[in-house]
Amino acid sequence: MVQAKKPSSRLLTTRRRRVQLILPILNQVYPDARCALYFSNPLELLVATILSAQCTDERVNLVCRELFQKYRSAGDYASASQAALENDIKSINFFRNKARAIRAMTQQLIDEHHGQVPPEMAALVKLPGVGRKTANVVLGNAFNQNVGVVVDTHVLRVANRLELTGHPSDAVKIEQDLIRVVPQEQWTHFSHLLILHGRAICTARNPKCETCPIFVHCPTGPRILEQRRRVADQKARTKAKSKVTTKAKAGAKTKSKAKSATIRRAARA
Ligand code: SF4
Repeated sequence: MVQAKKPSSRLLTTRRRRVQLILPILNQVYPDARCALYFSNPLELLVATILSAQCTDERVNLVCRELFQKYRSAGDYASASQAALENDIKSINFFRNKARAIRAMTQQLIDEHHGQVPPEMAALVKLPGVGRKTANVVLGNAFNQNVGVVVDTHVLRVANRLELTGHPSDAVKIEQDLIRVVPQEQWTHFSHLLILHGRAICTARNPKCETCPIFVHCPTGPRILEQRRRVADQKARTKAKSKVTTKAKAGAKTKSKAKSATIRRAARA
């Protein structure tokens, strides 16, 4: 794992304090925060998480409800033909690559883990198609082990806006920053909360800072509102200026018409 530059102890204290303040608020706002993927055992969650890459949880859940009726063990996936598995997941994007990854992953489970999903990070990340994020999802939600924080696109964005990390886009470094400031027993739950908040309020475009329940603890919210105020002022100024110009142009036109009429009258006299 790449080691990120350690934040200063002062910065860590600020970030820890911020986490302590926002956690109870987010818990109150999102009391049902949990993994959004449908599963009843570690294998199902592993398959669902692989399928969920760049796909909505709703779509994955829809496919998985039928898929899990048909494929009940690692052997069921590994012995299925590529074409058959592709057909069963074809409404999910990148279904060909995902079918290949699931078949290879389940074959490795059979070869090295007696067909069971190993409850260890080191073993999980060696499985085809399984990265640290997927392993964190499985360990945190299927094995109740807080070994890391899941950093998806929402966690990445919200953690940055809350300045809980100094890394804009590197998920591994962001995770390292978060595990330094979020209590370990909250690691899995914290990412569920940030995901829900990122979907509902702190959206990528036009975050709803005006109504955000953690606005007072967010360093970015006031800056976003100030930026919006400046843009609105600028627009109002441009509109007012264009009104004045139109009026002036209309006045000049009337004057010029009157002048021409005077000249014509003088010429006739
Ligand atoms: S105040 Fe705005 S930027 Fe900060 S967390 Fe809330 S929605 Fe996101």
